[in-house]
Amino acid sequence: MVTAQAFKICVNLKNGNGQKTLHKYGVKTKNKATADMHKVYDERADELIGYLQDEYEGFDTEENNEANPRWNGLSFVLMVIQKVDDDDELIEERKLVRAVANKLRIEEYRVGIEVEDLPICVGCDKVMTEEESDRYGDYSDAEGRPVCYSCYEYDRCEAPATVVFSDEPNEPYSIGSYHDDTEGQFKLEYHRTDGWRGHYNVVPSEDWEELHSDAILAMSQDEKDLKDFDDLLLEALNDRGIRWARVITRTSNVFCCGYDFFVETGHMEEIEHIVAQLRSMLRDPYKFHATALTGKDPDDLNDHDRVFVEMASRIMAENKERFGNEQME
Ligand SMILES: [Zn+2]
Repeated sequence: MVTAQAFKICVNLKNGNGQKTLHKYGVKTKNKATADMHKVYDERADELIGYLQDEYEGFDTEENNEANPRWNGLSFVLMVIQKVDDDDELIEERKLVRAVANKLRIEEYRVGIEVEDLPICVGCDKVMTEEESDRYGDYSDAEGRPVCYSCYEYDRCEAPATVVFSDEPNEPYSIGSYHDDTEGQFKLEYHRTDGWRGHYNVVPSEDWEELHSDAILAMSQDEKDLKDFDDLLLEALNDRGIRWARVITRTSNVFCCGYDFFVETGHMEEIEHIVAQLRSMLRDPYKFHATALTGKDPDDLNDHDRVFVEMASRIMAENKERFGNEQME
């Protein structure tokens, strides 16, 4: 398991290294002397970081330099982070104190170390600092594993699923890997076709039953048919006061989105015959598959396309399991 630790190194240069030693740097005023001293210790601190980077696996300071200015008066604060895998060598506090004192050329008693365990983001493996969580807040996935703000924000902006409920038709909810506005009413399972392609299966809670599952093929005649199907379906359900939810999911194909339609559990019988009728009117499987396979509307198919669609449909029909969203990805 990978874990991360922060070592806050506090070095106190007051006394001894104050006014008395200023002449060493050939300066006259105290402010100028302090600035020059910072420069000297900055260089030595860089040397220290270089040493630690050579000595230990997963050692880094980058993420923290901004959040933790090294200098504050005559105290020196350096935040260093070590990300360790099981077999990496751990930084020993005692050894670190010695290294700091040695590289900065000061006495060991001036070096204080605070060790803190830091969370690592499940999305990008980044080590998260306290400053970051103070500034942006804390986030986690469904299993409670920490998620950094950038991953969380991306998950929201580029959410793989958008859910619209009949109660609030103008208020879309979203579901991602690290957030779920529906609070468990729907879950996503990513179905990987291969390394590059895939789609999400929508799994409803027991409050919902799937009425219809489809795919939106962008800019096609089939898409228009599905829109009409959706309009008529909503009308029928709203007339009967049956609650519904429509889940649109992204797939790895930008021209194709998943369309999954649910009704509140217990209303299936009441609505089934209407859906069957709408399907026979507006969901022509030949049109759908021809469009999915060729990217063309059926009217625009040439002889080659027709043969191809015919053959592909036969092959897919033999393997009904895979006869779904997959062939379009
Ligand atoms: Zn992240």
